[in-house]
Amino acid sequence: MNTLAGPTQELAQQTGGIREHDAKGRHTTTSRSLHAIAGGGWVIDTPGMRTLHVSDAAFGIETLFAEITELAPLCRFSDCTYANEPGCAVQGAVAAGTLDPERLTRWRKLVEESSSNTSDRSGPRGGSTTAGRSKKR
Ligand SMILES: [Zn+2]
Repeated sequence: MNTLAGPTQELAQQTGGIREHDAKGRHTTTSRSLHAIAGGGWVIDTPGMRTLHVSDAAFGIETLFAEITELAPLCRFSDCTYANEPGCAVQGAVAAGTLDPERLTRWRKLVEESSSNTSDRSGPRGGSTTAGRSKKR
């Protein structure tokens, strides 16, 4: 959080040491607070929340990884996984050094997490329909 907010934030969040036996962090935050991020955006620091899962984030991931999204139409296969397909534009960009392979790894993790946490129950059984979703462009 302190890294995201940058050195100009008024009050840095307190941080604690790690547990020696497993090198995991200790909970240090004791109250909720909102922090401006250098370069735009906000982060809420809130105690007691260990994990925030990504779900239904396909559009955000496409935007965040625009350099990958823009290469996709150049792939030979429209359902390319950017893994082992011949003629893959994304793998080509990695091989050419124009795409950071770490970015592709992060993209892959987020897509997998988003799709595994995005329930089909938001369809008709959940009371809403997918028709509204397809209207968004
Ligand atoms: Zn491809």
